[in-house]
Amino acid sequence: KLKIRNVSGILKDKLPKYIFKLLKLAGELGDELGFSVYVVGGFVRDLLMAIPNHDIDLCVEGNGIVFAHALGKRLNASITEHIKFKTAILEYTVETDSGEKILMKIDIATSRLEYYESPGALPNVEHSSIRLDLYRRDFTINAVALELNQTNFGNILDFYGAQRDIKNKIIQPIHSLSFIEDPTRIIRAILFEVRLNFKLSLQTERLINNAIQLGMIKKISGQRIFHGFQLVCEEENTLACLKRMDEFKVLQEIHPILPLTDAKEELILELEKISNAYEMLYQKSKRENWVLYLLALCLGAKYLEVSELLKRLMFSSKATHSFLSMREQCRDMKFKIKAWSEMAFSPQNNKDKNIRYKMSMLADILNPLSVNAMIFVIATEKDADIRKAILYYITKAREEKLSITGKSLIKMGMSPGVEIKTVLKQVLDAKIDGLIKDKQEELNLAESLVKNFLEEKSKNNKN
Ligand code: ATP
Repeated sequence: KLKIRNVSGILKDKLPKYIFKLLKLAGELGDELGFSVYVVGGFVRDLLMAIPNHDIDLCVEGNGIVFAHALGKRLNASITEHIKFKTAILEYTVETDSGEKILMKIDIATSRLEYYESPGALPNVEHSSIRLDLYRRDFTINAVALELNQTNFGNILDFYGAQRDIKNKIIQPIHSLSFIEDPTRIIRAILFEVRLNFKLSLQTERLINNAIQLGMIKKISGQRIFHGFQLVCEEENTLACLKRMDEFKVLQEIHPILPLTDAKEELILELEKISNAYEMLYQKSKRENWVLYLLALCLGAKYLEVSELLKRLMFSSKATHSFLSMREQCRDMKFKIKAWSEMAFSPQNNKDKNIRYKMSMLADILNPLSVNAMIFVIATEKDADIRKAILYYITKAREEKLSITGKSLIKMGMSPGVEIKTVLKQVLDAKIDGLIKDKQEELNLAESLVKNFLEEKSKNNKN
């Protein structure tokens, strides 16, 4: 008989009020509709580990869609429903305990006993439907439910040893065919091991090795592999996940160009350092992490090998083109920057190594690069002077703005047209190169450039 622990006290004391209220409400509505309602998965796992988690997955014994509409109405939420799978997503704005307004997302699923309801397949015991729902999950630590209906509010339903494994910091699947059934769980196992600082049990390692030897990684679709890779790249410690994937030969199985090398590891650490510094300067941008990691893992690979890999990952032709041309662009950039540095740092041009010398030319070279490409170019640059120059471009030169506008030039006698842009660019370049500083100097330079321009023009008109 299952020993049931009740954590309603913890829920009341430890959860933020707005989440506690939501769980209470879900239980009340479940009672009204005659459905059993549970929170399942990551939220419960994290609750048992005292880690805050705001992603709520509900599981309803009954009809999840009907339940979602009832709850959605009470929360004033938008509903996206998936009739076929009887699932729904609620989204609404909620005020947190500190008064901040945030977007909440609740996933609602229906536990589907009907698949297993062939006569005699299962004894009709209590909780059999939620028990089966949990059985289909990936690891014991995720296969745990928290009951919300009022009489049982706060009961932990733990059929597969979630609490034991959380206590022992162990990752293991619920049954031994788990990785054969769904090999993407191999990547998820590694992800949880690293994220939670748990260990795969010895038996789990054996099951993973076994599944890999059976060629299961090759059977995962490109989209699912790529999705797994993206998840890994969003983790706090991506490199540790990649190392573990490498140990299990997962990278090798995805494509032989992928396994780690010392050079790749070094590059990844460098990319992370520069990327973090960039984010400190310019907040967290919407950049996708996977691009930099995939570029790093493809270090030294040939064009054809990389395009083969992208085909395996089922990249669209547009995404393939964009990734491949980014690699080419980064490589070409090296030559251009080298040529620039030979000029900029040559002794006769620049005795005091003033990196602002012709910074505007470097700006023209670097301008077309995306942020990711720029980070990659710096990370792969060994020459300290060049790195300094690129960093100077990113932090200072790129931010340089003029105080004067096209209007100032029109006042000086130029007529509207593309020439205005050319003159403004020359003034901006001078500013980037540190030749002029304030508005007055901008005006002075603009004036002399406009004067030259007008003189040239009238000379041409006379000829
Ligand atoms: P996170 O904190 O990353 O959201 P999570 O445990 O909520 O962790 P999700 O990826 O959001 O993870 O998945 C939600 C739940 O669905 C998991 O707890 C897990 O039980 C289940 N799940 C996800 N992927 C699989 C899979 N491949 N096989 C079985 N169950 C899965």
